[in-house]
Amino acid sequence: MATWKSLFLLLGLFTSGDQYELMRKLMVLQQIEARGVSNQLVLEAMRNVPRHLFVADGYEEYAYSDQALPIGYGQTISQPYIVAYMTELIRPKPSFKVLEIGTGSGYQAAVLAEIVDQVYSIELVDELARQADSLLKKLDYDNVHVKSGDGYAGWAEHAPYDAIVVTAAADSVPPPLLEQLKAGGRMIIPVAKWDDYQYLRLIEKKENRIISRDLIAVRFVPFVH
Ligand code: SAH
Repeated sequence: MATWKSLFLLLGLFTSGDQYELMRKLMVLQQIEARGVSNQLVLEAMRNVPRHLFVADGYEEYAYSDQALPIGYGQTISQPYIVAYMTELIRPKPSFKVLEIGTGSGYQAAVLAEIVDQVYSIELVDELARQADSLLKKLDYDNVHVKSGDGYAGWAEHAPYDAIVVTAAADSVPPPLLEQLKAGGRMIIPVAKWDDYQYLRLIEKKENRIISRDLIAVRFVPFVH
């Protein structure tokens, strides 16, 4: 079934001419839906955001392949599947206000911005924050707000958040982030266990308790604090 769909999409390549749009559709079908992400809002967002504009110069042709890629300053944009998986895990809704730590290229922020109402994103490397901010503005993502700084303390001014997405691997969950999460909200964060082993942790904040689950193994750049 997926093979037939891929074939039709490839045929479309010769008729529509928009090479990147087709690459995105194939990416969603073969890398993301095939691995079980099924939230239609997430799939649609992944089909819409022009990932090739977020990777470092010279990497455009690999933008839709199944891998993380450089974005400059020693940082990386996550593999498309991981972005989709993390976005699905927070159960995004159009009414949501989301905090992201680790803006990087701005790609994850753009995916979130396709779905939710407001995205607040913090990036430690000043140049990356500025680059991401100007690209997101150019692409008309007016609902993303980028600031440069250490995301450890979160962004109290706009708290509480319906969801928090952390895209750098921390040794433990920064307490200020937990505080700024709404009751009923979800946080997804890569946690470093040993030097070369990290996993994604999903945290659900209930009225009077925290539920925490460790999911798949991942590889993110370190959360610097
Ligand atoms: N979400 C990004 C990928 C981010 S890579 C994207 O879609 O492109 C992780 C980013 O986290 C890097 O850019 C790194 O500089 C940033 N980072 C690391 N520690 C941080 C901290 N304490 N506060 C904010 N950003 C941090």
